[in-house]
Amino acid sequence: MEQALNSVSVVDDVLNKRPLIISGPCSAETEEQVIETATRLAKTGKVDMLRAGIWKPRTRPGMFEGIGTKGLSWLAQARKITGLPVAVEVATAKQVEDALHFDIDLLWIGARTTVNPFSVQEVADALRGVNVPVLVKNPINPDLELWTGAFERVAKAGIKKIGLIHRGFSSYGNTEYRNAPMWHLAIEMKRRNPEIMMINDPSHICGNRTMLQDVAQKAIDLDFDGLMIESHIDPDKAWSDAKQQVTPERLVELLNGIKWRHETTDAKEFVVALEKLREQINHIDDELMQLLGQRMKIADKIGEYKKNNSITILQTNRWNEILERAFKKGEALGLSKEFITKYYDSVHMESINHQNRIMNS
Ligand code: PEP
Ligand code: MN
Repeated sequence: MEQALNSVSVVDDVLNKRPLIISGPCSAETEEQVIETATRLAKTGKVDMLRAGIWKPRTRPGMFEGIGTKGLSWLAQARKITGLPVAVEVATAKQVEDALHFDIDLLWIGARTTVNPFSVQEVADALRGVNVPVLVKNPINPDLELWTGAFERVAKAGIKKIGLIHRGFSSYGNTEYRNAPMWHLAIEMKRRNPEIMMINDPSHICGNRTMLQDVAQKAIDLDFDGLMIESHIDPDKAWSDAKQQVTPERLVELLNGIKWRHETTDAKEFVVALEKLREQINHIDDELMQLLGQRMKIADKIGEYKKNNSITILQTNRWNEILERAFKKGEALGLSKEFITKYYDSVHMESINHQNRIMNS
């Protein structure tokens, strides 16, 4: 009966919604919690799918590792009551089997699984011959090849509906994020796979409630297809990821606060204006390229002098001087210190490579 309620076409329709909003607790904890969360989420009319972790990959042993298979029947029940399709994370063949047994509508592969080709292959093999949509989270480390590999393994198993979830990347030490978004990696993944749905998971990027809105907005500005946001009826008491979960009602406020954008429009005035501005950008980019080429030619000359006088390529004082100058100038021009550092690092490395070639020729 559940099958009839959420036939494949119903789930397909849901997956075609833009923006696609998936929400629900980090973990299913009790039947009441799952049902109440689902009911309150459904009441908002803003949520397309219910998520809940049943098996939780936890960093340290002894933390709550998920309620296990019995949680699947709670999800099936929540779906029956609310009509919301349901999604769970799977990491092993057995978990796939159990989830499919309960006709779970969508499966996702978590960040800690995507890093491991053996695990991904095990999941993919268990999916062979099954018609269930699968979302693949980015691996915990910033490696697009691993993310792509996981995606390919699932596709090779014959899964047709595959999407991606950007949940940020772990980095050592304290940063403002739990998992640094490294937006450029998500953008590059989108560029390589323009047809593939990509949603953003601000909850695991932020690790707290305060930054959720900004990260979600940024994802929408970058043309993501949707959001997966963790929600809980009593966030502070959640058995996992308590700091980052929001109530269903707070979720609505957050979603209402987002400025939704379209990728394109036919409005003539906008199209013309955009084209003009883009021409200017192309022009400036060409000039920058010319100048960089000239800069490298000068670096080559310096390389010749250094070679003839047996001087090292890197001179730390000079490099510090360049950076200090750049920060001062850049700040006045509205360029961030982060950008200037990255830009100069990359120009400087190119210069070093040029000089290296000259000095060792
Ligand atoms: C989760 O979605 O609750 C989860 C475990 O996320 P991630 O795989 O991104 O760490
Ligand atoms: Mn979580």
